[in-house]
Amino acid sequence: MTKTVLLAGLFHETHTFLSQTTGIGAFRETALHIGPDIIGRNLGNGSPTDGFLEYARLKRWELVPSIQMAAMPGGVVEDVAPALFRRHLFASIEASGDQLDGIFLVLHGAMVSQTCDDVEGVLLGELHDLLETRGLRIPVVAVLDLHANVSQAMIDFTSCVCAYRENPHNDARRAAMRAAGLLDALMDDPHVAQVHLATRYVLPPTGTGSADNPMKAVLAAARAIEAADPDILCINVMAGYAYADIADCGFSLNCSTRGDPQTAVRYLEQLRQVLEQHIAEGYPDEAVLADVLAKVDALPPGKGPVLLVEPADNIGGGTPGDATDVLGPLLATGRRNIVAVINDPKAVAICVAAGLGSDVALSIGGKTDRHHGAPVAFAGSVQHLSDGRFELENPKSHLASMLGTHAEMGPCAVVVNPQATVLLTSRKMPPMDLGQLHSQGIRPEDADYVIVKAAVSHRDAYGPIARASFNVDSAGLGTSNLKRLPYKNLAGKIVSRR
Ligand SMILES: [Zn+2]
Repeated sequence: MTKTVLLAGLFHETHTFLSQTTGIGAFRETALHIGPDIIGRNLGNGSPTDGFLEYARLKRWELVPSIQMAAMPGGVVEDVAPALFRRHLFASIEASGDQLDGIFLVLHGAMVSQTCDDVEGVLLGELHDLLETRGLRIPVVAVLDLHANVSQAMIDFTSCVCAYRENPHNDARRAAMRAAGLLDALMDDPHVAQVHLATRYVLPPTGTGSADNPMKAVLAAARAIEAADPDILCINVMAGYAYADIADCGFSLNCSTRGDPQTAVRYLEQLRQVLEQHIAEGYPDEAVLADVLAKVDALPPGKGPVLLVEPADNIGGGTPGDATDVLGPLLATGRRNIVAVINDPKAVAICVAAGLGSDVALSIGGKTDRHHGAPVAFAGSVQHLSDGRFELENPKSHLASMLGTHAEMGPCAVVVNPQATVLLTSRKMPPMDLGQLHSQGIRPEDADYVIVKAAVSHRDAYGPIARASFNVDSAGLGTSNLKRLPYKNLAGKIVSRR
């Protein structure tokens, strides 16, 4: 018999130290779709929602598309956003609840609103209550980002959660298909238990790459347990998201099982031990720019640019994309053939007013807040102007997990002088796909230095073209040195190696 599944999505990674809030407008910029629009806007776009739709098509499920909301990582979410999601989701259930066989949710899992530290956990609890009240005993399955800060409520009020396993997240679509497969199994046999184990560790994003320990070792151990015990449906290794000053911040583990929950708890204890064996590697060292440049100068000759990775302004982690603490000092050294991207709508507007081919004297970046450096003087000629739209070159890239395969940076300008080529954007865009630069006529392959505002998510795109890569310790709220952040709510958690 055909199964009927409700689909909804709520996606945000909330950086609670940023001063600017994330309002409905930020969701409209990325995704705010209601009803059948969710299907039309996601089919074929490489996103987790697309993965679910593919699975649903194969299984000929009837879909009840409710609401999908997603915004780029940023500051605390205004309460109106989760309220809008809740209203539509609950109205969909009121309207079609009796026909539903299951509920599938595309979540990130790290949303904080003005009045709620655990938006997903609270919403899932309310959803659970609504289903109970209506006598609907149907499974609720959610796909999560690997950086979710998972709460006990998120586990208590879902049947099963299923997270990405790779960072960069090139498996987001596959993870959603796996989650849909679990929903399928649970619609046939709802018997399942989930267990959750929070840890004391809060890792900076630079310590959460799945090719590196501790993630690599813990993920491998989790896969080995899944392979050995047929009762286990799914083990999730949650790296957590460090920039949320909330009790549930940090690395956690969870497991769904058809068998004995106590056995699952023991598995998670084993995985915690693996984490602790490798925990020092979760806090990688970073050098300041002068020390990095000394290392660059000692490199043997080679092809391709040196990446100067700037995790302190990791756009994919929510920061404004206008930090100047690497670009400014690098320009001051007199070095040449630099490529950089700065989010600065005001500077773009000046370039647009001046026109293509004009000379402009700009003051770029450092405008969002006082945490990301001061504006930097940059004079050059306007070499390219565009509407900032591009298609991803890698449809499985980390960016597709957040946006799908079409990206919009708003009006853009490329300004060039003998030292540097700077792409100025009107809307911050994480550097996760080379289409961002190629679409603007910039070839990072031919640069000597590329400043990359990321922690890990850039690696699939920029790793293959680079001669070498160094993380630079600089100013910004994406700092890997978590001791610099004014946490108040972590209650004894560990944020550094020392
Ligand atoms: Zn993530």
